[in-house]
Amino acid sequence: MFNTLYDIAIIGAGINGCSVAYEFTQEGKKVILFDIEKIANGGSGAAGAFISPKFSKAGELKELLHEAFVYSMDYYEKHFPNLLKKSPLLHVAKDETDEKTLKLYKEKTSLDLLAPDNEDIKRLTPQAQSKEIVSINAAIVNAEYMCQAMAKSAKFVKQEVKNLRYDDGVWVIEESYSAKEVVLATGAYEKIIKEPYINLRGVWGHRIDIQTSTLNKNSIHQFVSISSSDNGRLAIGATHNVHYHPQTSQESYDIKSGREELLQKASLTLELKDVKILKDYTGLRSGSFDYLPLVGSLVISKETLKNQTINFKTKKPDYDSYTYYPNLSMINGSGGYGFVLAPYLAKILKNHILKGSTIDKKIVPARFFYRYAKKL
Ligand SMILES: Cc1cc2nc3c(=O)[nH]c(=O)nc-3n(C[C@H](O)[C@H](O)[C@H](O)COP(=O)(O)OP(=O)(O)OC[C@H]3O[C@@H](n4cnc5c(N)ncnc54)[C@H](O)[C@@H]3O)c2cc1C
Repeated sequence: MFNTLYDIAIIGAGINGCSVAYEFTQEGKKVILFDIEKIANGGSGAAGAFISPKFSKAGELKELLHEAFVYSMDYYEKHFPNLLKKSPLLHVAKDETDEKTLKLYKEKTSLDLLAPDNEDIKRLTPQAQSKEIVSINAAIVNAEYMCQAMAKSAKFVKQEVKNLRYDDGVWVIEESYSAKEVVLATGAYEKIIKEPYINLRGVWGHRIDIQTSTLNKNSIHQFVSISSSDNGRLAIGATHNVHYHPQTSQESYDIKSGREELLQKASLTLELKDVKILKDYTGLRSGSFDYLPLVGSLVISKETLKNQTINFKTKKPDYDSYTYYPNLSMINGSGGYGFVLAPYLAKILKNHILKGSTIDKKIVPARFFYRYAKKL
């Protein structure tokens, strides 16, 4: 029917889509990757791309991020050493609750923490110096170049995908391309398959690259994320604007006040001298309502709800009894940790697609179908 039947079509070329592309091209599979505009067009192009664990007391997300952090640090270093910059990260408590959390984190974590260097601490503002600080060997990746490097062996097509149909065992994309498998990696931007239980929230973020005479050896996270400096250049970023959405907001985003806010918040932690703004990056990150990512096959809700043998009110759902779209999965909802999670989740998804391995119930999209169906 079409010239090339791809093994897998990936829609969305952010860090999630590109990580999946890399996993499959490494296996010798034919991969086609679509994006509306370019590689790293969405949240991934804006990210500071710090690779760090989650400094919280406990919880499933903390556990997942712990594993993903250890995996990704090693993975990026092994596969893309030139795009990874290792530097210690100082995580500074924001408030009293954070202070308690970080104290507990220090006691309980199995990760190797660093003794903060006194000289580095002295460079922080008095406010920051007085707070609890955790220091750890972490890293930053070059967000855009990383996505491009991962996607290198895939065929990239600049096209917004709106039409997908499954025909005779094959996915037909925009009536022009065909693939055996489809992976949706569209972040917070578009819904191609509209299912009522998939509800992702987009949070707007802004990053600025600045020139400054302030020397900064570490990455620092407090009210915003500040990267270490390189030739007088460093990045400041945050995703905290839940009110602005590029597709639904009436007014355009105010870059000037966004910059001021980032600089003002950064200055609470580190005094930045002779600042000149070099570049702005903005984008949405997408998060789920239980904060865990969504990885795996998609339930067809209409079909599944018709199945009278399923007890939707049960406390022990059997996800295997649901009806799923054939050869279609998603990878999304990475929140503020897309670069930490993507390589780890892409490996899980690849093993699921190629080897049929089971994905942890905590992260499969079917959990949201279960919650949705239970309420009906
Ligand atoms: C300012 C900022 C700072 C951040 N800092 C960090 C950090 O330090 N560390 C970290 O780990 N994470 C960070 N994040 C979060 C991280 O960027 C996200 O978790 C990650 O980018 C999500 O990747 P994604 O591939 O799921 O989505 P995206 O990168 O948003 O990619 C989705 C892509 O899909 C494309 N697309 C959508 N619909 C279609 C369609 N119909 N057809 C074709 N293409 C489509 C979009 O154009 C987009 O390129 C930050 C985010 C922001 C905004």
